[in-house]
Amino acid sequence: VHAGAGGLGPELREHEAECRQTLIEALCGAQAVVERGGDAVDAVIAAVRVLEDFEYFNAGTGAALCSDGTVQLSAALMRGSDRAAGAVAGVRTIRNPIVAAQAVMQSHQVLMIGADAERVATAAGVEAQSPHAFVRDHMRARLAAHAHAHDRGTVGAVCLDRSGGLAAATSTGGITGQPPGRVGDTPLIGAGTWANDRVAVSCTGEGEAFIRSGTTRYVSMLVEAGAGLAEATAAALEDVAALGGDGGLIALDAGGRVAMPFTTESMPRGLWRAGADPTAWVAERDPVG
Ligand code: ASP
Repeated sequence: VHAGAGGLGPELREHEAECRQTLIEALCGAQAVVERGGDAVDAVIAAVRVLEDFEYFNAGTGAALCSDGTVQLSAALMRGSDRAAGAVAGVRTIRNPIVAAQAVMQSHQVLMIGADAERVATAAGVEAQSPHAFVRDHMRARLAAHAHAHDRGTVGAVCLDRSGGLAAATSTGGITGQPPGRVGDTPLIGAGTWANDRVAVSCTGEGEAFIRSGTTRYVSMLVEAGAGLAEATAAALEDVAALGGDGGLIALDAGGRVAMPFTTESMPRGLWRAGADPTAWVAERDPVG
């Protein structure tokens, strides 16, 4: 799991223990699904729901505010075995956008936007809430303070289940101060989110560069061409950097190899493997996998 590449600001330092705990809870949520025989899709949804419900991560409840003080949420979900995918962008009334992405995945569409996406989700039983419930005081303060220096966040999860199935999920409030209507890489399959039978990837960072690079599909193509996961993910972030973007990603291949590189100051992240305890890193830069 990851909780967004960005700076190690005072908020993250002040709430470091809670952030770590939330990452661990997200991993435990996924672990419970996998251990009772559930698949990778249900596991990444379970993890991302926990991350969306935490007010200091930029997704769902903790979403960054647009320049007009509103929230616009995006999320995507992809199953590796058959490349089924679902995504929503610009939704304002869905408590857990990743569940709305699942509702879209179960429809004939892949990506739906705004009020129409909300209608599809609520018709499928997804919980709605008032758009005002997302607007927290600390996010208002952050919008006021960061009017000219965009900060970010985003959460994501990748999973390899007991049957060898891979899945990826990503959810975001976008970038603080973004213009209403802006959509980043998160809900775009092949940019911010991707899974096939070889690899699952979830990105975070400057969405415009990730879209222009086609980051997750790029990682996948390199892996399919024989690159190792570390090499493929490093090359993908180099391409993002060449476009002037920074950020990070989490990637997992069918052999259980993990890469979690980032080019920013921090990227809170965590890892659970069967037979081991879940582990999370918030301020640490420790290489993993
Ligand atoms: N990638 C997200 C976006 O551009 C933001 C982030 O990951 O911090 O909307």
